[in-house]
Amino acid sequence: MPQLSDRVQTFTDSVIRRMTRINDAQEDSINLSQGFPDFDPPKEITDALAEVAKKGPHQYSITFGAKNFREAVARKQGKAIGRTIDPEKEIVVTCGGTEAMMSAMMTICNPGDKVIVFSPFYENYGADAILSGADPIYVPLVPPDFHFDREVLEDAFQQKVKAIIICNPSNPCGKVFTREELEFIGSLAVKYDAFVVTDEVYEHIVYDPYKHIHMAQLPGMYERTITCNSLSKTYSITGWRLGYLIGPEKVIESAKKVHDFLTVGAAAPLQEAAVVGLNFGEEYYEQLKNIYTKKRDFFVKGLDEIGLKHTVPQGSYFILIDISDFLAMPQFTGWSDLKFCEWMIEHYGVAAVPGSSFFREPVNHLIRLHFAREEKTLKEALRRLGEMAKQLNCL
Ligand code: GLN
Repeated sequence: MPQLSDRVQTFTDSVIRRMTRINDAQEDSINLSQGFPDFDPPKEITDALAEVAKKGPHQYSITFGAKNFREAVARKQGKAIGRTIDPEKEIVVTCGGTEAMMSAMMTICNPGDKVIVFSPFYENYGADAILSGADPIYVPLVPPDFHFDREVLEDAFQQKVKAIIICNPSNPCGKVFTREELEFIGSLAVKYDAFVVTDEVYEHIVYDPYKHIHMAQLPGMYERTITCNSLSKTYSITGWRLGYLIGPEKVIESAKKVHDFLTVGAAAPLQEAAVVGLNFGEEYYEQLKNIYTKKRDFFVKGLDEIGLKHTVPQGSYFILIDISDFLAMPQFTGWSDLKFCEWMIEHYGVAAVPGSSFFREPVNHLIRLHFAREEKTLKEALRRLGEMAKQLNCL
């Protein structure tokens, strides 16, 4: 057989999504690995979908997104960033945030272009960089508060970078970038003439007193910011694969071409049904925040009671748990975090993602869990984790 491309040899499948498969192969295991809710989307949206099933559309929408969907995105996000967004020229509707990010990278990067990525990072960015030919330069977000060193960041910018990728709120560390941090990053992007690619899919899952600031809303930043977003988390419809890019006309004009040949378009019936969600008022987002705040507080309290060390997210629904105490025990000598996660599924029926999938640094002592689950499921997961902690006598 002829050889496959070099690029496919250089990355693995997604460990996040692999953990879901391992979880699902194990009877009665609770999946806290790949982040998605186990509760239903808003009824208005599913009702709209039922209507669409009868009325259509069932054929392609415009490749860069159905007009009414783009108009609804422009209204909602325009309000959020305080400017008029042109739905014809400044938006591309994509198959999820994943395609939004990939299209953004393929639109702006030539092979060999350098792109700054904070570490820890969302796993996809590694593959996005490889597939678009970009070379990542990693800048650490330093625990426990996941701040970045301004000098280290400026040093990175000095290496002639094409762009910086920011996940805000951050997956997996739960950081919400402050206005000052974003302004500083923005000032470097201007000084060194780089794009800012922001992944803001958790924009509505931010806990008080933290606030989500859009990079594109900062003075002078819209012109160099490409915002990647998704409806997955905001409306609990991860399987619908609806996302979008927002950016200045010139970038979007090219992104439309990339997107057109990658996927032609996002599912037309689903776009039609989701417009109802994009038109929800402020109270919907307030309610979403309250739901997740309750889950976060419940899960954090449970982990504290068990005695596991963990991060407390300012935004998103991920928690990193420190498993150093386990790995220090003789029976785990030499274990990788992946092996630990596989063992946890097999013996305790709780799935997590090994932390090494998110860090550039050699990290082996963290695992990521999410809490987008019904409270009764979280309670059972906590019970199982408690058993695990007890049996290992690590308290
Ligand atoms: N963002 C989610 C996570 O990190 C999952 C997204 C995906 O798998 N496409 O778990």
